[in-house]
Amino acid sequence: MTKRECLDICMEQKRSLRSARAAIRENALKALEKDDSRYREVKNTIASLGAKIALTAISGDKSQIEKLKSTLVDLNIRREELLKDAGIGEVEYDCEKCHDTGYVEGAICDCVKKAATDLYLKEISAAVPIGECRFENFDLSFYPDAAADGVSPKKRMTEILKLCREYAIGFNPSSSKSLLFMGNTGLGKTHLSLAIAYELIAGGYNVIYGSAYNLFAKMEGEHFGEHSDKSYLDAVNCDLLIIDDLGGEFVSPYIQSLVYNIINTRLLARRPTIINTNLSMADINERYTPRVASRLLGDYTAKKFIGSDIRQIKSLKK
Ligand SMILES: [Zn+2]
Repeated sequence: MTKRECLDICMEQKRSLRSARAAIRENALKALEKDDSRYREVKNTIASLGAKIALTAISGDKSQIEKLKSTLVDLNIRREELLKDAGIGEVEYDCEKCHDTGYVEGAICDCVKKAATDLYLKEISAAVPIGECRFENFDLSFYPDAAADGVSPKKRMTEILKLCREYAIGFNPSSSKSLLFMGNTGLGKTHLSLAIAYELIAGGYNVIYGSAYNLFAKMEGEHFGEHSDKSYLDAVNCDLLIIDDLGGEFVSPYIQSLVYNIINTRLLARRPTIINTNLSMADINERYTPRVASRLLGDYTAKKFIGSDIRQIKSLKK
């Protein structure tokens, strides 16, 4: 489900709740009118009084108008009392701002946006452990201090963690840089990109996250099966696209051009993308054609993750 679909669902839920509550009140009013002669009389009198006031207004008899108006006020008070006795209040609503209409001055209300964000996070959580991969629990103690070839993994990863936190805080869907996270499996690329995704989704941004394998398979299936490019268009238009494990998919000429189109379209529209890959730049060059490699080299901020496979260390510790 996309963020847009989550918004639509939450808007619909809000509206149906509102109309269900209105219908319950309407039914209660009808029942009261049927069963309570006092209420029926007051209601009918209020209706006829309205017409009488309008007619008297034409005659211009001011004192008579005032008298009728005062009777109307009394009758309305009486009506309220009868409603209160019958336990019928105004239609309840959850949101003070939009009274559950979902809109405030033509714009989608925050209550719907919040519900859609929660729903979207829940939806993504079903596929990837987004709630568990946060900045707070990114454990730098897994990275050795000692430099193997001139660079200390702990120092490098401390810098990358800082960069990711700052990226999430200062995120701008039309000016943030695109990032390329390189390095072997098990060094935290997925963890950190999910941590960024979490912060941005919670902040209301439309983030699409998926493995290259899943994302491209879906796009290819839609393109050739349903003659639709829905997932492709969602991916090129979202605020932040995160492609995990580029290289983990089967590459065909179609996938090669798909990868190029996604990367290039988003760069031209100045929309940021984060790509995680175990591949080297030489592998990318060979696998996806030099024009993909050249876009990544020229326009992405590349960060090389280094250290030892954390999944292995964790499983050895158990
Ligand atoms: Zn609202």
